Amino acid sequence: MSGPLPPIDVLAEQIRFLCEDDAAFEALRTAAANTAYRQFRNRIYIRGLIEMTNYCRNDCYYCGIRNSNQKLERYRLTKEAVVSCCIEGYDLGFRTFVLQGGEDGYYRKEDIADIVSEIKRRFPDCAVTLSLGEYDGDAYQMWFDAGADRYLLRHETAGKEHYAKLHPKEMSPEHRKQCLYRLREIGYQVGSGFMVGSPYQTYEDLAEDLHFLKELEPHMIGIGPYVPHKDTPFAGRQAGTLRQTLVMIALLRLLFPQALIPSTTALSTIAPDGREQGFLAGANVVMPNLSPVSVRDKYMLYDNKRNTGEESAQCLESLKRCARKAGYEIVTDRGDYPGFIREGKV
Ligand code: SAH
Repeated sequence: MSGPLPPIDVLAEQIRFLCEDDAAFEALRTAAANTAYRQFRNRIYIRGLIEMTNYCRNDCYYCGIRNSNQKLERYRLTKEAVVSCCIEGYDLGFRTFVLQGGEDGYYRKEDIADIVSEIKRRFPDCAVTLSLGEYDGDAYQMWFDAGADRYLLRHETAGKEHYAKLHPKEMSPEHRKQCLYRLREIGYQVGSGFMVGSPYQTYEDLAEDLHFLKELEPHMIGIGPYVPHKDTPFAGRQAGTLRQTLVMIALLRLLFPQALIPSTTALSTIAPDGREQGFLAGANVVMPNLSPVSVRDKYMLYDNKRNTGEESAQCLESLKRCARKAGYEIVTDRGDYPGFIREGKV
């Protein structure tokens, strides 16, 4: 697919139709799987996900690690703990480490830079991805200079009004988008994305997400179903559906043939075969959990978040078997964006 997207109202109707009509959905999924195959064959890239901290200054209404959730036991990892996760991950075959966390003011920007350079010093053949939220350009630049390669920052929803229903007024979609453009300018491979089926979301909002992504042209796009968390203002809400999520993955694959698109933990949380269904809809990345086992249950973004079995880095062999059954091969390459060349200091 090339050229401009249909306008929001038309695209919204098309998305609705794809979610409701089985034959249209099957055709979409086949087209997306074929596009993924042409670009990447049946290869799936893996990333080891290290959940560094569940402290967060923000108060997003949907998120289990929001600041106001006083029921959550908080933790943060030391540099040594993060590095030992990487050592274990490297032995398992991971060549990308993703450091994710809440926006935790405890770490100074120099501390994060120090962790990144230590990982790059020990594992020069690995990519480091950061997913730590909204910071200023100086912090992003410092981390890039320390060797960080990629940054994940989902825009969450591109609909301005919708964004305001999911976040307190201190947070703005404009600032988040500015961060994304800044990251791109600095030279990161940039990932954005959104939740599917979050409270108040309309098909128009999803159409706006596609429009925004078309404008940003990110290298990575992470989407997953919204899943409620019991200790948030949205407790008891409906989760996003498998079908809607697969439709959006497939559309993203067609719109961004070369993008790195994960089949997310949230997707395998809402459906037992969610991960493989994601691959069959065009996803080509999976991010097993590499956090220390002792903290895994504390990074609870939503209820029942999976971190065992194939969601655990330690069960890579089993993940490989599951992927193979669906016709896919888990590979250990770094899995950069095709043709991406890093400029500036390595
Ligand atoms: N502080 C970082 C990491 C946030 S957690 C940042 O701001 O990017 C990573 C992602 O989890 C979020 O971007 C959000 O899209 C997703 N998430 C949070 N709560 C969720 C929920 N209840 N259901 C599904 N996904 C959720």
